[in-house]
Amino acid sequence: MPHAARVPPSVVLLLLAAAPAAAQSRLAPPAPAPLPAPAAALVDSAWAAYERGDRGAAAARAERGLAALRPAPGERAARFALSVAAGRAHADLGDPHRALPHLERAVALAARRDAARGWAVAYVGKVRFALGDTAGARAALDDAARHAPTERLAAVLAADRRLFGFDSTTYARWRTVATPHLRLHVSPAAPILDLAAFAAVRESAAVRIAAALADTAAAARPKPIDLFVWDSEREAAEAGLPRVHFARPAVGLSHLTWDQTVGHEIAHLIAYRAVRPEVVAPLVTEGVAVWFDGSSDDRATEAAVALAGAGLRGADVRALWADWTRLPDGVAYPVAGAVVETLVRAGTRDQLRALLRTQTLDDARRIYGPALDGWLDGLERRLAAGVAALGGGARVAP
Ligand SMILES: [Zn+2]
Repeated sequence: MPHAARVPPSVVLLLLAAAPAAAQSRLAPPAPAPLPAPAAALVDSAWAAYERGDRGAAAARAERGLAALRPAPGERAARFALSVAAGRAHADLGDPHRALPHLERAVALAARRDAARGWAVAYVGKVRFALGDTAGARAALDDAARHAPTERLAAVLAADRRLFGFDSTTYARWRTVATPHLRLHVSPAAPILDLAAFAAVRESAAVRIAAALADTAAAARPKPIDLFVWDSEREAAEAGLPRVHFARPAVGLSHLTWDQTVGHEIAHLIAYRAVRPEVVAPLVTEGVAVWFDGSSDDRATEAAVALAGAGLRGADVRALWADWTRLPDGVAYPVAGAVVETLVRAGTRDQLRALLRTQTLDDARRIYGPALDGWLDGLERRLAAGVAALGGGARVAP
């Protein structure tokens, strides 16, 4: 996920300006001139959707609002707030091409070089990175830091610098190697003897995954995938990265360790680029990444081993689909891989792409039809038989 959404302070003020006077007086700072009611309603509606996490609605409402704004006192402030909302929403949705003009307009409209403008400039940096303009991204993040950033904005800027490889203290001695679809940035501490071979294996995984998802351009569009390869979780933690082994599809990057499976994070990125998910379920998102990680071609046996190791007799895959927390990660991931393996073998590539777009069990039943439950019953029987053959399964399946 991109970093948590926060409404820039000036937008909060804009919203407050439309709120009852009592609410304003509790929050001391002098509010800007109140927006006329129609403009305030447009701003409020777009940012309410953004705050709730509904980026699609936020983008649509902000763009409708921009089209509906009429010349009036406060119109410029409303246009700024709506442009930021539209730009951030499109950026978070992984659509940097649509985000950039909104954000650049917001930066041009801002009356002062304050933190609110700084947020817009920071997002310009993020979007430029997503589009492959690394130098432009770096310049925007530097500029945003000169906008009297709030503590929160300063923290986001520092995190983005680390995330994008701009933190020169951390990355000074890292090596970079490019393949047609990837840019690998590799820690000097990672014990990789043949960097070209290491890169080539990941490049062919990217090509294989993109082909399997019927979108050979997805691996390199709109820019090559940036893979930051750490020696260990500890090295990443010491550099200030809160965690490692993750992908940020909206900006086309992953931070991982050199010994992680070849394809897992690459699969997350390419699946997102190829299909642009609308409704996600971890069983499908993670199952696809497990299926494409390149480490095994027998996911059902792998899942049975994990179940037996956890003392489980089997798995209710439909229950796991609805509630990913039912099983510990060490079991849930291989079971998800086995589910996706089942769907890949029994269904078509178009069905898999449809499932990646809308990932709930109900979506799967619509996409695969009545056969689906029979396939899942069969998988559950295979898992239980696999566990029994391993002599495991003391406990009842959750
Ligand atoms: Zn994953």
